[in-house]
Amino acid sequence: MSAPSNPITAHLPPTGKPLVTSRQLTLALVVLLALAWGFLPEFTVSVLSNIGLYALVAAGLVMLTGVGGMTSFGQAAFVGVGSYATAWICTSPAAAAWLGGFVAPALLPWAGLLLGLVLTFALAWALGAVTLKLQGHYLPLCTIAWGLSLYYLFGNMDFLGGQTGITGVPPLVIAGFSLATPRALGVVIWAVLLLALWALHNLLDSREGRAIRALKGGRLMAESMGVNTARHRVKLFVLAALLAAVSGWLYAHLQRFVNPTPFNLNIGIELLFMAVVGGAGHLWGAVLGAALITLLKEKLQDVLPSLLGSSGNFEVIVFGLLMLFVLQRFAEGLWPTLARIAGRWVRPHATTGAARPAVPTVQLAQRNLPAKGEVLLQATSVSKRFGGLVANNDISMTLKAGEIHALIGPNGAGKSTFFNMISGVDDPSAGEVRLAGQTMTAKPSRVFAALGLGRTFQHVRLLGQRSVVENVALGAHLRAKRGWLAAMLRLDRAEEAALMAEARRQIERCGLGAHADTPAASLSLGQQRVVEIARALAGQPSVLLLDEPAAGLRHLEKRALSVLLGQLRAEGLGILVVEHDMEFVMNLADRITVLEFGTVIATGTPAEVQANPRVLEAYLGGADDELLEDAR
Ligand code: ADP
Ligand code: MG
Repeated sequence: MSAPSNPITAHLPPTGKPLVTSRQLTLALVVLLALAWGFLPEFTVSVLSNIGLYALVAAGLVMLTGVGGMTSFGQAAFVGVGSYATAWICTSPAAAAWLGGFVAPALLPWAGLLLGLVLTFALAWALGAVTLKLQGHYLPLCTIAWGLSLYYLFGNMDFLGGQTGITGVPPLVIAGFSLATPRALGVVIWAVLLLALWALHNLLDSREGRAIRALKGGRLMAESMGVNTARHRVKLFVLAALLAAVSGWLYAHLQRFVNPTPFNLNIGIELLFMAVVGGAGHLWGAVLGAALITLLKEKLQDVLPSLLGSSGNFEVIVFGLLMLFVLQRFAEGLWPTLARIAGRWVRPHATTGAARPAVPTVQLAQRNLPAKGEVLLQATSVSKRFGGLVANNDISMTLKAGEIHALIGPNGAGKSTFFNMISGVDDPSAGEVRLAGQTMTAKPSRVFAALGLGRTFQHVRLLGQRSVVENVALGAHLRAKRGWLAAMLRLDRAEEAALMAEARRQIERCGLGAHADTPAASLSLGQQRVVEIARALAGQPSVLLLDEPAAGLRHLEKRALSVLLGQLRAEGLGILVVEHDMEFVMNLADRITVLEFGTVIATGTPAEVQANPRVLEAYLGGADDELLEDAR
């Protein structure tokens, strides 16, 4: 029953018999690496250790850039913070005097790790809070700015040794073993990397992971599902920075000295290369990218000078060209292509909770639905001006529990604008919106969601690459509460099962049971609209706002949608529909509000509205008119 939820392999025709699952293959490779570790040549071990260090930073960038949609050129600076923190603590007499009483010398690197993490946390949080508000190209530019600042700071601080840096960093000591060689420390590096990949993978496969994925498509949808996008962006930024700092800490104890050079902007750009070339949206792409770039750099530094007859950083030019080529040919990086080829032999492990049988043992938060006839949503004299244009003029409207209210009007009448006013996307210029008895002035849409407002979008907003069930589960975001750490450690499984069960229930109810495990983008547009309804329902709303739900639906699908909306009304939901299909509206709605040029020109039952001369006039503007037909 469980179709693979991996978007790469989900489309594949079943060619031959897959030999192993992806998890088995991963485990086999890890065991192979572990067994071979003791016998590999010194040089290979050293290169592998470096790859591990880079991959750790790149994995953070995959999360930040590939999944979260935020580009950073400045990660090398956080590696520097992690490196310098431990180097300073382990070598400075001042630090020794300070810590001497509490910390044994062998434990100093751990104090260094702690300091590095605390500093990075504070720095990343502060930088993130300021710069992540920036849109478009300003954010990447800003990361260049602070990447450079930190780099120069390292070189200009006397107590950090200036350009010479800090020497004499001691090796890491674990359980009495001194990890002085790359062969010894490399084991720790790769263990940390694999652990980090496991935790990040878990995070992505969770409630919070779905919220993180939703960040990339803009904030509107995520906020409407109740996700605090600003907070999630900062947390993601801090997470990526912490991974970089851990890498820096390991690096300092591998090299046994630090200076500013490896934390240069150049390296920041290289790190981003790794994430993007490997496959910005895929965690293993980080390892692939780190390996490719590291090996290539190694080769180029050998070959290029002899080829060009002089030495210099020519490899940067080659990297630039390479990046252009890869992004031209493989827009998603190399990992998806590799995975596609491997898909012949490798079966994806059922990774998402989506594909697992669900036996929920915990209950999601439940909302007490209001009594029939109770006013749920009330707009009083709402106006919206865009410069000189009055898009909404003094609109008043109520939506009660157990009714379907339709909002109709010609194109440009102001329906979508009004929709935005009553869902927290935009604030009215004048007037008041009340939801569940509360004034909603200046409140963001996630507060509307928390108070029981569910909505769909005129232009469908789904995570196209993710399965339908994952998309729908995002709608139940606010009904669960397990956070990032719980997800990383897989302590959220009971709750996750409950979320998945709820998502499947809503999908069944909306008639899409057969498509639960397919990527949302592979459904027809009409079906995608229904997925949006299921997603809204997963939040157990009392108010449902639907923007043109019947657009793109076939006749039978429209009938099914009518039946579903009728059921929801009977359950006591208040439903507001913006819709062009007059037959659909007239058969379904209890009350209709007609807008023209931003003003309400009629309100009443379908029969009243159809008989209203002003409405007929407004609609007569168009050549052929269904409303008029209906009225006769
Ligand atoms: P409808 O959804 O009924 O077709 P809209 O609410 O989208 O109408 O638009 C109403 C009017 O407001 C239109 O004239 C439109 O051009 C204008 N409008 C909508 N949004 C904006 C905006 N963000 N800035 C300026 N004008 C806008
Ligand atoms: Mg519109």
